[in-house]
Amino acid sequence: QARDARDGGPMTAPTPPSSPRVRSGRSSFVVAIDGPAASGKSSTAQWVAERLGFRHVDSGALYRAATAVALERSGESFDEPAVLAGAQQISLQPVQHSFVPVWRGAEMEAMIRAPEVTRQVSRVAQMQGVRAWVNAHVRLAAEGQHVVVDGRDIGTVVFPAADLKVFLVADPWERARRRLIQRLERSPSDSEIAEETERLVQRDARDATQTVQAKDAVLIDTTYLTQEEQVERIVSLVRVLRPGL
Ligand code: C5P
Repeated sequence: QARDARDGGPMTAPTPPSSPRVRSGRSSFVVAIDGPAASGKSSTAQWVAERLGFRHVDSGALYRAATAVALERSGESFDEPAVLAGAQQISLQPVQHSFVPVWRGAEMEAMIRAPEVTRQVSRVAQMQGVRAWVNAHVRLAAEGQHVVVDGRDIGTVVFPAADLKVFLVADPWERARRRLIQRLERSPSDSEIAEETERLVQRDARDATQTVQAKDAVLIDTTYLTQEEQVERIVSLVRVLRPGL
């Protein structure tokens, strides 16, 4: 039975419903989407959430939010206690199908996408106290509802008993091309794609320790898939696992 295999492998007894490893008495459904930078996790997760009426939680947005506040407060010279002190001022608030980080009463979307934040975020994500802070927020947001959560370690660390785990990969050149089209809203040149590919590969290397594919994750290579096809695959998997959703 697929559910039992995900909970403990086919050789172990099914997990009883009272076990803390089964979230929320089976009523809520967790989709974990992990993968490297710019693999399309967040936009795919958002679409899947909208299609299914779930909520999307972007864990990367919280690492970015902690980084952005640290940069605001201390410039580049922050250490872990400074990052954690700043993070206490951030909350995660529900907005339509998502959760968004809020600081000083304002949504942080523009702030967290700044190039300086992208450059510094992997350093912040190495701090174990920050990882614990993000994980606690993500788990709290997901409590008692159907969610799609994206990040690097969602299927391994944050929700090891997620109902469906997906690991998205794509060729680095294609990831860079898509990222630039999104950012520039035009076709990028080959040299622009080459520079962005270099930046992505460097960030992948910095994030390598925390980017882990769960053994029971479904691997989807999106290099030759459209966004609609990726979303459709994940939505179909959810409906196979939990008909009626
Ligand atoms: O997904 P996104 O690229 O916005 O994530 C920003 C950064 O947050 C990553 O480069 C990585 O350092 C960190 N991250 C992480 N674990 C997660 C999600 C993001 O370490 N689950």
